[in-house]
Amino acid sequence: MTILRATPAIEAIPPMTPFIGPEQLMREGGHPHILRLGANESAFGPSPRAIAAMATELPRLSWYGDPESYELRETLAARLGCKVDEILIGSGIDDLMGLAVRAFVGPGSIALTTRGTYPTFAYHVTGYGGGLETVDYRPDGTIDVDALIERAAELQPGIVYVANPDNPSGTMCTRGQIETLLEKTPPQTLLLLDEAYAEFAPPHSFMSTTIDARLMRVRTFSKAYGMAGARVGYAVTTPRNVETFGKIRLQYGVNRNAQIGALAALADDAYAAGVVGEVERGREEYYALARSLGRKTIPSFTNFVCIDYGSAQEANAVIVDLMARGVFIRKPFAPPLDGYIRVTVGTAPERSEFAEHLRAVRPR
Ligand SMILES: *Cc1c(COP(=O)(O)O)cnc(C)c1O
Repeated sequence: MTILRATPAIEAIPPMTPFIGPEQLMREGGHPHILRLGANESAFGPSPRAIAAMATELPRLSWYGDPESYELRETLAARLGCKVDEILIGSGIDDLMGLAVRAFVGPGSIALTTRGTYPTFAYHVTGYGGGLETVDYRPDGTIDVDALIERAAELQPGIVYVANPDNPSGTMCTRGQIETLLEKTPPQTLLLLDEAYAEFAPPHSFMSTTIDARLMRVRTFSKAYGMAGARVGYAVTTPRNVETFGKIRLQYGVNRNAQIGALAALADDAYAAGVVGEVERGREEYYALARSLGRKTIPSFTNFVCIDYGSAQEANAVIVDLMARGVFIRKPFAPPLDGYIRVTVGTAPERSEFAEHLRAVRPR
């Protein structure tokens, strides 16, 4: 039989799955249900208003969505105090990140990020034939902004990628650090600032909506708004960058119901605030749970918490034991965080259930 080969660049990439989904784990382990606390999905679902709006519009799924996502952009622009043409909608941050890499990294050029941060960025860089350079987290799990600045000056990368707040550490750079990072970003480098968890962090910790040719901020409806399965996120950047993306983006890539749901979610601030408050309580519970087990945590600005198990081996064993009990969580893979497990804040009953399981797991 002949083998149909992909391009040499693609053939050179080892087969991989950046995320083993919970569904796969359920099939493999024969679990009819699991406690799903591994993907930082919202345990609280979308706003009932978003659900109602999407349900009402379901029959019109025969239509494509507005390829300009105009209403959603207009609403976001008004909230953020920027212009409609400074906003681009994508089918989640993952989609927007792919476009950014395709547009600004490309074959033969370099992207710079933190080793062990959100893996989809590296996945896109490899897939589009770019080279990836990394700096390490600082020992406390924060992003090493000074190291990024220094390496960016040396490498002149196409993109510097920072998740802020970061996944999987849950840590956050200060507003001053991000302002300095932007100021020191080389003139032909894009600072891709992934703010997937922005809603969970104090608003004053973010710089105001700066429109700068070297800056693209991306946010999503997947986390605080509880719409991960709908796939919708947005970028805030210059009109020129939006235009650049317009050359390569999938024109009908944002599903119509997702646009409608996102609009309705934005109109329900009270619901989002409730979710954020409950997540705060959940984080405190997880800190207390870890303390009661004599384990450290990293203060989190997100909807998940990292708990220290001392070594990658121990942390992996905990993940395996929890999965055997039908509990799905994940862990950071790179040092200095590879001895931690990462658990998403669930509902109050889910949190108690998780606590019982975690207490029952005996480290070897
Ligand atoms: C969850 C997550 C994403 C994915 O966002 P989507 O909008 O669902 O694609 C992106 N970045 C980080 C840091 C995340 O944790």
